[in-house]
Amino acid sequence: MKIAVLPGDGIGPEIVAQAVKVLEVLRAEGAKIEMETAPIGGAGYDAAGDPLPDATLKLSREADAVLLGAVGGPQYDALDRPLRPERGLLRIRKELNLFANLRPALLYPELASASSLKPDVVSNLDLMIVRELTGDVYFGQPRGIEVRNGERVGFNTMLYAESEVRRVAHVAFGIAMKRGKKLCSVDKANVLECSELWKEVMIEVSKDYPEVELSHMYVDNAAMQLIRAPKQFDTMVTGNIFGDILSDAASMLSGSIGMLPSASLDENNKGMFEPIHGSAPDITGKNMANPLATILSVAMMYRYTFADLATADRIENAVKNVISQGLRTSDIWTDGTQKVSCSEMGDAVVKAL
Ligand code: NAD
Repeated sequence: MKIAVLPGDGIGPEIVAQAVKVLEVLRAEGAKIEMETAPIGGAGYDAAGDPLPDATLKLSREADAVLLGAVGGPQYDALDRPLRPERGLLRIRKELNLFANLRPALLYPELASASSLKPDVVSNLDLMIVRELTGDVYFGQPRGIEVRNGERVGFNTMLYAESEVRRVAHVAFGIAMKRGKKLCSVDKANVLECSELWKEVMIEVSKDYPEVELSHMYVDNAAMQLIRAPKQFDTMVTGNIFGDILSDAASMLSGSIGMLPSASLDENNKGMFEPIHGSAPDITGKNMANPLATILSVAMMYRYTFADLATADRIENAVKNVISQGLRTSDIWTDGTQKVSCSEMGDAVVKAL
């Protein structure tokens, strides 16, 4: 199992170091893991003048999975757009054809008070959002800003090919099969033709998965239901722009951005695994970032790319164990719990493992 390790910028190197400790434990036990590190984002620009250096892309293509920290930082904000760290991230997703983005929203009962919603609304929440990642209005052509009738107009194209919907549908149904067998497809089919096709293809694909109960919801209602009663959902699937917004809303249900992992998969379940948060320049270098989202990203790597569910469960249980011991980084700390640093949290997970 060859893993490309891309720490990136800001707190990226600090949190990835903790996840690497976990991988090293597994390697010491006999797992055949090879890890190689390369720069991406601002670190890529500093090293090679490119947020996605050729050598980093080559390493990532050859690897079975990619572990990423985060990219970006104020020192790179004045660069030309193609050189900005975030461009490196968009490009690697596109180059590796990572079309299915999996974002779990999970709330450990001990952290229910960290959510902005009432504890009984979110306690034991376990929701998976599958977002299509390489199509939709973010990539559709034509796009641009031009002058028409004497004024500027901006335009983008919402576009999905049947095959793009079908492949993400199969991923989502496959995941729903391994979870609660309930899939909610989110669209805006009452207004958009693009969504009408999305819905038709979802219904066609559902015939291959008779055990999964498929439902449909308009995106505006889905936004409301996610805040009103999020536990009604098991697995959700949606297009790129709706998923972008809904998955960020869902991440806040669980209190801290420092707890949530993500996976982006291609057709063969090769994937890139990363925490959903950014590079947190405000806490960089202070050894206070929460590494659990990155460690849980390694669990997702085992679950989805290596298909080793036992190890995935083991890593997730080690995280549950440190939470129930009362150990907290400062983002999730509350009275009566024990504040630990980023590296102490990593060590605690290793011990629990
Ligand atoms: P951010 O996610 O970096 O930080 C938002 C807030 O959450 C900050 O207060 C930060 O301290 C806190 N936070 C984030 N991760 C944390 C962790 N693991 N533990 C404890 N606290 C944590 O978002 P931002 O401030 O909007 O962006 C900062 C930089 O990150 C920008 O350059 C942005 O472009 C980039 N960014 C990158 C990614 C990515 O790499 N996937 C995602 C979002 C933002």
